[in-house]
Amino acid sequence: MSDIIRLLPDSIANQIAAGEVVQRPASAVKELLENAIDAGSTKIRLIVKDAGKQLIQVIDNGVGMSATDARMSFERHATSKIRQSEDLFNIKTFGFRGEALASIAAVAQVEMKTRKNNEELGVCIKVEGSEVKSQEAIACEKGTSIAVKNLFYNVPARRNFLKSNPVELRHIMDEFQRVALAHPEIEFSFYQNDLETYTLRADNLAQRIIDLFGKGYREQLIHCKEDTDFVDIKGYIGKPEFAKKSRGEQFFFVNNRFIKSSYLNHAVMFAYDKLIGDDAFPFYVLFIEIDPKKIDINVHPTKTEIKFDDEKTVYAMVRAAVKKALATHNIAPSIDYELDINFNIPSEQRGMNFEEKETTSKNISYTPRQNNETKQAWETLYNGFENKENLEKLKRYEEMTVLTLGSKINSTEESSGLNKDMLYSDNTTTFQLHNKYIVTQIKSGMALIDQQAAHERILYEKYLSMLHNKFGASQQFLFPQSIELSPNDFTLLMEMEEEIKALGFVYNIFGKNTIVVNGIPADIPNANEKNLFESLIEQYKQNQSELKLDKKENLARSLAKRSAIRPGTKLTLTEMNSLIDQLFACKMPTYAPNGNLTLVLMSMDKIASMFHKTE
Ligand code: ADP
Ligand code: MG
Repeated sequence: MSDIIRLLPDSIANQIAAGEVVQRPASAVKELLENAIDAGSTKIRLIVKDAGKQLIQVIDNGVGMSATDARMSFERHATSKIRQSEDLFNIKTFGFRGEALASIAAVAQVEMKTRKNNEELGVCIKVEGSEVKSQEAIACEKGTSIAVKNLFYNVPARRNFLKSNPVELRHIMDEFQRVALAHPEIEFSFYQNDLETYTLRADNLAQRIIDLFGKGYREQLIHCKEDTDFVDIKGYIGKPEFAKKSRGEQFFFVNNRFIKSSYLNHAVMFAYDKLIGDDAFPFYVLFIEIDPKKIDINVHPTKTEIKFDDEKTVYAMVRAAVKKALATHNIAPSIDYELDINFNIPSEQRGMNFEEKETTSKNISYTPRQNNETKQAWETLYNGFENKENLEKLKRYEEMTVLTLGSKINSTEESSGLNKDMLYSDNTTTFQLHNKYIVTQIKSGMALIDQQAAHERILYEKYLSMLHNKFGASQQFLFPQSIELSPNDFTLLMEMEEEIKALGFVYNIFGKNTIVVNGIPADIPNANEKNLFESLIEQYKQNQSELKLDKKENLARSLAKRSAIRPGTKLTLTEMNSLIDQLFACKMPTYAPNGNLTLVLMSMDKIASMFHKTE
């Protein structure tokens, strides 16, 4: 029998290797950005199109490559970063395996342009599926530009496996943010589909955080720094009062490499202890410097986990550093953003004017829809209660209201069996209890309504139907308002543009991370547009992390939650009546979208029995 074992052709071997390094557009982004940093760049631009599926390009002003090096860089195990095995224990660069470019070029169409500073001409190399298509001398800028087109064009199974654009883009943004945080001294810009998403000037870490996450972070950062013989810890943590309900920005870097560690995260959470609620997540960006010999350095390039030789000590140090920072924050100065993170602020410069967080959430007052229809509905409300069958229904309903239903509550098409015809009382008395509840007399007894929960239910159903019918009434502003959002929120907004507009928001994009709002949904009076937008997005993110709702469901819930009347809001009789009317017109009047009860009914029988009487 003839021999059957063969060496795999390089192109196939590379494709197999690529599977490990390049899982999605974001992995290519990470590798290219890290190469640019390793090349000593001071300015790096990232361009993506179609969430990286069509194009990922990184342009840097680093050392560039000679024509031979450029050609070599696409070979597997080709690296300039390791020469001998000892180098493995002293790695200062991000890459060292020489796999990334070979892997990327195996599964994409790659065009590299590069020029060394001291050379007059650069080189342009095109590679498709590991095959060099062309190489020519060209005039180009100093540094390197690598364009990765049509990732996985030759591996359909992988290409089809990619997630939707918003999801892939989120992964790319995550990688970009991690790299940008670890290198505030480098200027970064990020363009997606020709839209400039970030421009980050070279500055200190605090400024980088603010440029990345928004101006709101200026007032919430606490400097954290702790040097010991074993590790150095530095960075910023968020003031406890700014902790969010959604897991937001939390970053650990070990020797400037982003890592994920639930163990160290626990150390931070432990330090915050009772300063924040159990369900809140503080902000942190912490850099841990440790002797490379004390960690497992040969971690896989795409993995973000890391092994410490002495995990417990690192845990204790992180916890102590955060605790100390928190303990001093009330008497410490607000951070001087012009200073670098390493700069120790002399104590005499420390101002004592610590700014308290301003409560920004503004109550949105409720104005009912007032029209003839409402009045009529109100007049017939609670009609037909004499009917015995209806009475039975009401009894059953009363029993039901004692149960708390799970989250299926909103998807149940079946109505509660309660309708306004059942409840008619022609001599209705309605009043507000402690500005929180509405008590109303009905023929069979009384109903107690939670005004906030009820309003949330009404708005939720209304918004959901707007989202499905793509029609939302909007109130136009005389003077359009411009709002600058954080890049993250801006991107999220872009992802939901269609839905947000269906709700009645009217806005245009006005440059980088800025929108101009011309109108908001018609039934949200006197709202502060900026707060409304921001709180809507915040609520959306919170729901996203806790409940994994679909986009429409989440938006309807978020906006309903944020625009419903709060407890403590005084309502007029007309408002109360209109609220009751609208509530009973709902598909599921008895529960708020989160499953809490909106109302409790009490029959005269029940009341009598409480006094040991029979009706
Ligand atoms: P590694 O980074 O592990 O060495 P890569 O495949 O990412 O492997 O890159 C291979 C080599 O190509 C690098 O070692 C480096 O010499 C060169 N290279 C890659 N990208 C750049 C760049 N942007 N600027 C200069 N040289 C680069
Ligand atoms: Mg590399």
